[in-house]
Amino acid sequence: MNAHHDSLFIGGRWVAPTSNERITVLGASTEDVLGSVPHGSEKDMDAAVAAARAAFDDPDGWAAWEPARRADALHRLADALERRVKDITHVVSAQNGMTIRLSEQVEGALPGILLRYYADLVRDDSGETVRDGMLGAPVHVRREPLGVVAAIVPWNAPQLLSATKYAPGLAAGGTFVLKPSPETVLDSVLFAEAVEEAELPPGVINVVPAGREVGAYLVSHPGVDKVAFTGSTTAGRQIAATCGTLLRPVTLELGGKSAAVMLDDVDLGTAMAEPFVQATLLANGQACFASTRILAPRSRYDEIVEAVASLVGGLTVGDPLDSATQVGPMASARQRERVEGYIEKGRAEGARLVVGGSRPADLDKGYYVAPTVFADVDNAQVIAREEIFGPVLSVIPYADEDDAVRIANDSEYGLGGTVWTNDEERALRVARRMHTGTVGVNHYTVDPAAPFGGVKASGLGREFGPEALLNYQQTKSIYR
Ligand code: NAD
Repeated sequence: MNAHHDSLFIGGRWVAPTSNERITVLGASTEDVLGSVPHGSEKDMDAAVAAARAAFDDPDGWAAWEPARRADALHRLADALERRVKDITHVVSAQNGMTIRLSEQVEGALPGILLRYYADLVRDDSGETVRDGMLGAPVHVRREPLGVVAAIVPWNAPQLLSATKYAPGLAAGGTFVLKPSPETVLDSVLFAEAVEEAELPPGVINVVPAGREVGAYLVSHPGVDKVAFTGSTTAGRQIAATCGTLLRPVTLELGGKSAAVMLDDVDLGTAMAEPFVQATLLANGQACFASTRILAPRSRYDEIVEAVASLVGGLTVGDPLDSATQVGPMASARQRERVEGYIEKGRAEGARLVVGGSRPADLDKGYYVAPTVFADVDNAQVIAREEIFGPVLSVIPYADEDDAVRIANDSEYGLGGTVWTNDEERALRVARRMHTGTVGVNHYTVDPAAPFGGVKASGLGREFGPEALLNYQQTKSIYR
C-alpha cells in the first residue's frame, strides 16, 4: 500500500491545498510509509467552513430539505461506505494497528449502521410538536438544526468516531467540517470519496486532515456553530475553554480509566474469555472505555491475578491484518513510548509485574508492546490513575462490595466500567452505584441504540441513541 493524495475534499470537489505541507502515515506493524495527504492549513479550513456555511445557509439546501430526503441521502452514503468496507477496514488497521477482525465491525460495519439508524429515526419526524401551553394557548416547539459542525476525531477508531458525529448531525440537518487526526488520514480520503459518490450536496461534508493547531483554529472559527470532539482530556479542556468563551455548544468524549469489578462469586471459567479481553484490551488497549483497573476481592485475589495473567499472556500478538491476531501494535512510536513509560512507572512504584512488560521478542518491526498485567496495584498509583491507552492492566485488591464501588468511583474519570458476576441482580445493584456514563455486565459492548459518554474528566454530553440528535439541534418555542 502506498497511497499519496494531492487534494482536499472541500465544497463537494477535490481542490488543491493552499500549502505544501504534508502528513505522512507510517504502518503501525511495518513502520513503512503507507501514504500521505496534504496537511490542511488555516486557509483550507476557511474554505471548508465557508463551504459548510453556504450549504447550511442555502434556503433550499440541506437544512431545509424534508427529513425523508435527507434520510435517503444518508442511506446512499451508507451504501457508498459499504462498497468500500474492505479498503477502509484494511487501511485503518494498517495505520493504527487495530486488528482486522475488530476493524471490520467497528470501522467497517458500524458507520453504515449508524447512518441508517439516524436516517430512519428522522424520516417521519417533522421536528415540530404542538403542546398545550399554561397560558391557555398552544405552543409550537420546534427542533431546528444547530448549523455548521466542527467534528474533530482521534486515531483509535477514526471512521466510527466520525460517524458518531456526522450520522446524527446530518440527520438533524447540520453540515460538517471533519478534521481527522494525522495518524489516520488515509481512510478519511476513502470516506470523502464515498461522500462524493453519494451525491450529498456540495459543502455538506468537508474533510480537512490537519494537526492540533489547525484543529484549534477550526474550533474558534467564527463560521462554526457547534463542536463535536473525541480525544484526550487535555485537548478537551482546551476546546471547552474556547467554546466557553464563545458560548459555542460542544460535546466532548474524552479519556477514561474504567474499572472491571470482579464480584466474589465470579465464575472465572466463564468470565475469562473473549468478552473479558474485549472489555479490558479492545483495540490493543487503545480504547477510551477499556476497563483497565481490575478490582479483585481479597478472598479470591491470587486466583483472579492468575486467571487474568494466563488469559492475557496467552493472547496472540501480531500482524493486525491477520484475522488470527488478537492484539496488534500501538498506533505510533510516540504512543508506544507513552505506554512503555507507564510500564516503567508501574515498576518504579512497586507494582508486581506478572506478565508482559516488554516488547514481544519475536516481532522486530512495528510498535508492539506485549500485553501486560500488574498485580498488587494501589489505586493511588500513577498506573491506576492515568489513562495509559495501551495493553496494560492493573489488578487492585478490595475488601468488600462497598470497597469495590468506592475504588471504582475513586477516579478522575467516569466513562465505562464492567461488573463480573453470576448474579445479574447484584450486577445491576453495583452498576447503578458506579459514577460513569456506561457500565457493562459480564461484557462491554457499546449499543448504538443507547447513549454513550462520560462524567467527570471523561467528557460532556452523549453520543449514540436518539439522544445524540439533540447534540445537533436547538429548540425554538413559538407562542401562539
Ligand atoms: P488528542 O486529544 O491528542 O487528539 C484528538 C484529535 O484532536 C486529533 O484530531 C488532534 O489533532 C485534535 N486536537 C488535539 N488538540 C487539539 C486542540 N487543542 N484543538 C483542536 N483539536 C485538537 O487525542 P489522541 O491522543 O489522538 O487520542 C487518544 C485520546 O482520545 C485518549 O485519551 C482517549 O481516551 C480519547 N478517546 C476518547 C473516546 C471517547 O469516546 N470518550 C474515544 C476514543 C478516544
